[in-house]
Amino acid sequence: MIRMARKDKVCRSCRVFVEKDTCPLCGGTDFGTTWAGVAIVLDQTKSEVAKKMEVSVAGKYALKVR
Ligand SMILES: [Zn+2]
Repeated sequence: MIRMARKDKVCRSCRVFVEKDTCPLCGGTDFGTTWAGVAIVLDQTKSEVAKKMEVSVAGKYALKVR
């Protein structure tokens, strides 16, 4: 069970959860805090979810971000 705070930020372009001020993947600062669904990608080469989401880096992603 993973609990997440509401204030967690998600990069709007990568949909990755961001803990710092800039996105670790794209370097962007366009974040959304309204998101739904969480996908943890451990190995992007074996993950069906990663393929669907076009994720190329392992990490924690939101399925939808606003
Ligand atoms: Zn990003």
